[in-house]
Amino acid sequence: MAFKPANNIQDLQYFGEFGGVNPSISDSSTYTFLSAKTMFDTFEGNADGCYLYSRHSSPSNLYLGEALAAMEGTETATVTASGMGAITPVIMQLCGAGDHVVSSRTIYGGTYAFLKNFAPKLNIQTTFVDITKIEVVEAAITKNTKVLYCETVSNPLLEVADIKALAELAKKHQLQLVVDNTFSPLSVSPAKLGAHVVIHSLTKFINGSSDTVGGVICGTQELIDNLRNVNDGACMLLGSTMDSLRAASILKNLRTLHIRMQQHSKNAMFLAEKFESDGIKTVYPGLASHPSHNTFKSMINEQYGFGGMLTIDVGSLDKANALMEMMQEKNLGYLAVSLGFYKTLFSAPGTSTSSEIPEEEQKEMGLSSGLIRFSIGLDADIERTYSIMRQCMEALNILSA
Ligand SMILES: *Cc1c(COP(=O)(O)O)cnc(C)c1O
Repeated sequence: MAFKPANNIQDLQYFGEFGGVNPSISDSSTYTFLSAKTMFDTFEGNADGCYLYSRHSSPSNLYLGEALAAMEGTETATVTASGMGAITPVIMQLCGAGDHVVSSRTIYGGTYAFLKNFAPKLNIQTTFVDITKIEVVEAAITKNTKVLYCETVSNPLLEVADIKALAELAKKHQLQLVVDNTFSPLSVSPAKLGAHVVIHSLTKFINGSSDTVGGVICGTQELIDNLRNVNDGACMLLGSTMDSLRAASILKNLRTLHIRMQQHSKNAMFLAEKFESDGIKTVYPGLASHPSHNTFKSMINEQYGFGGMLTIDVGSLDKANALMEMMQEKNLGYLAVSLGFYKTLFSAPGTSTSSEIPEEEQKEMGLSSGLIRFSIGLDADIERTYSIMRQCMEALNILSA
């Protein structure tokens, strides 16, 4: 039977302490124990259902984690203060000094910077590869490799990882396949395709209102227990803990994620088809022209579409900047980084979210300076949006009228 992530979220019910339809928010950093022995057991990790201290876990954070684990189909999950606060502890938990990571080269700028510049300080080395070439990925694996890292849909080039194929490779070489699924919540369920760990920046589509940062790690009970271990758990010791108030508000936003993803995808598909037929170089996984269109299709939970992210190439950075400024003036969206908002957001990745990647490497991976990344909003009237965008492009000679 097909995996139904939104049903799994909807079927989880939590009630507040006075019968409220939303769970009560846990507003405490610390918890009392009736017996001293139970406190000791909790420290040892042997007292299920007891809370110790909110950096370790809290009821509100557990509710949100449980809902996200249900969405991804993993045993459990733990929420974190940001997406980077999820990614970095996972890598440090799974790798020690001398270990090696094979990572997609087109990943979030912060993740790239961490693997390239920070992890080597811990003697964790990374080889960056074209994740769409399975033989290249396999050739990069060494006897020290512990982790295979990728994004389902990569930032900002929208390359699509073949998670089934990567999971087989991970199995063959006994690696942990870690997938950042931030760009494709509900649309793709990496754990169902064999990924061991699924990460999200909750900052983006899942929260969807651009009012907080947050992250989640979905995986086995064993991994999550390890991450929270008071003696050597990276989440517990590095301290990127989400606040309970935020966990409660993100859980409420998660309730509408399925509707939002459908609208993001519908609007993005509409614009991508229009831009492409206007002769603009358009990258969107839903287009048949996308090199990994069939790979995405083979993984998709169909009703959620191909997501809200698309890129166009308008030829030069000057033109990209002029177009973005004009679109903002016409109230089509905001010139801002990030994604998953009700309003369309656009930025030029080469000079913003991927500026951590050296110019030479940007060129090599096909990140051109005229590239604009769009996170398409929830516009009620996408035809009107398109016709105003088209006027902007004509005014700037991006389209031959
Ligand atoms: C934004 C983002 C991150 C980092 O998340 P934060 O919440 O900003 O720390 C990681 N991966 C991807 C794909 C992202 O878009």
